[in-house]
Amino acid sequence: LNPKVTAVDAAEKQKVWEADRDHFMHPWTDFSTFKESGSMVFTGADGVSIQDADGKRYLDGIGGLWCVNIGYGRKEIAEAVAEQICAIPYFSTFGHHTTPPAAKLAAKLAELAPGDLNHVFYGCGGSVANDTAVRLIHFYFNQLGKPTKKQIISRIDGYHGSTYMAMSITGVKFDHIGFDIDEQLVHHISCPNPYRRDPGLSEEEFCRQKVQELEDKILEIGPDNVAAFFAEPIMGAGGVIVPPKGYHKATLEVCRKYDVLYVSDEVVTAFGRLGHMFASEDEFEIVPDIITCAKGLTSGYLPLGATIFSDRIYEVVSKPQAEGAIFTHGFTYSGHPVSCAAALKNIEIIEREGICEHVKEVGAYFEARIRELGELDLVGDVRGRKFMICLENVANKETKELIDPAAKVGNRIADACQKRGLIVRPLAHMNILSPTLILTREDVDFVAETLRESIVEVTEGLRAEGYL
Ligand code: PMP
Repeated sequence: LNPKVTAVDAAEKQKVWEADRDHFMHPWTDFSTFKESGSMVFTGADGVSIQDADGKRYLDGIGGLWCVNIGYGRKEIAEAVAEQICAIPYFSTFGHHTTPPAAKLAAKLAELAPGDLNHVFYGCGGSVANDTAVRLIHFYFNQLGKPTKKQIISRIDGYHGSTYMAMSITGVKFDHIGFDIDEQLVHHISCPNPYRRDPGLSEEEFCRQKVQELEDKILEIGPDNVAAFFAEPIMGAGGVIVPPKGYHKATLEVCRKYDVLYVSDEVVTAFGRLGHMFASEDEFEIVPDIITCAKGLTSGYLPLGATIFSDRIYEVVSKPQAEGAIFTHGFTYSGHPVSCAAALKNIEIIEREGICEHVKEVGAYFEARIRELGELDLVGDVRGRKFMICLENVANKETKELIDPAAKVGNRIADACQKRGLIVRPLAHMNILSPTLILTREDVDFVAETLRESIVEVTEGLRAEGYL
């Protein structure tokens, strides 16, 4: 990093800070605290790190927001983007028009995606990829002459985005407070979180119970009314929940039995985070009907999302329809050539540098080092895989009792880490880690040791204040 380029003078920093506080309504932000504290201003980034306006460097333990998979400062992406902007920065892809990056990326995604998932619809992010999946599924069943097959099933604590539809499918109850969701169309079944299972149940029994719940829900709504089941391979924003072994395969079988389409939301898990281009097949041995992805598709360098779907769906939605219907769905920026050029270069880098192999090795080391923190008094559970990990902090490891929310334990740990040059994400009483995928073993050691010191410090503070 060149501090001359990324640090800014105090007056400029103040100007940015005030403009931001007064006018930029940030996503997912508690404005009661924001109005006082404003934002940290970041002005530079390189490799695994970001730098604030004062020139202080932090190892980015959250990969931007689960997305900067190849790390920061990749000139090759900048060059590919600049080249595309100079060639043709934008043109509509409605109807019979295309550009080379949009076409080539679709073919590349079809090659990488499992099974017969050979068709790609583009949007600008994960929420829109999921909304597109819903519209595609509804159109599909309408064209098959099954207009009642419309209902969607998803899980409590699943996260699928922030548009009206995607937020309805999301099952994180906190995210629904103060809003309305589409309860006519979406049904939530319980979360397959092994840590919070009934202590009397084995993991196998727990799995059977959760799979049975899906089947019961389909039967309750009526198979003729149920269109799709949405699931992340590992639930991310709900607390990095890895379902019990065999869960995905068994839920897919239930879906097949009742002609319910299976949508695997790989917005976080695709493009290397778990050591595979797509986790559905390679980590969990399922070939879903639809995969939605975004984030790591461009490593966050530009916005892009994709809904990748099967030959079976394509054959129905692309054939001549009754009353001249066509799939009237799409966005100005569907297949934006500059975003697609960034994605192609990003995938080339992931493949050329063997980033999936790196994640299998160093990501496994990361997982093992963070799991060691499970021995600390505060840490009830360490879960996740490779570069996708959550620490659940509790007051009592035996009873799994939570700490009083007023203690804001997740925030305290994040602050203690930040002081030491590490960014981790607080999520209620938990902390999430989803760094860039290019961490070295030394970087991993820094993360593990910094987190340990921070958790020990926070534990002492909580004891002193009577929270533990
Ligand atoms: N699905 C999952 C699994 C996600 O984690 C997210 C975002 N964190 C989304 C969908 C929504 O993506 P976006 O914010 O790009 O709309």
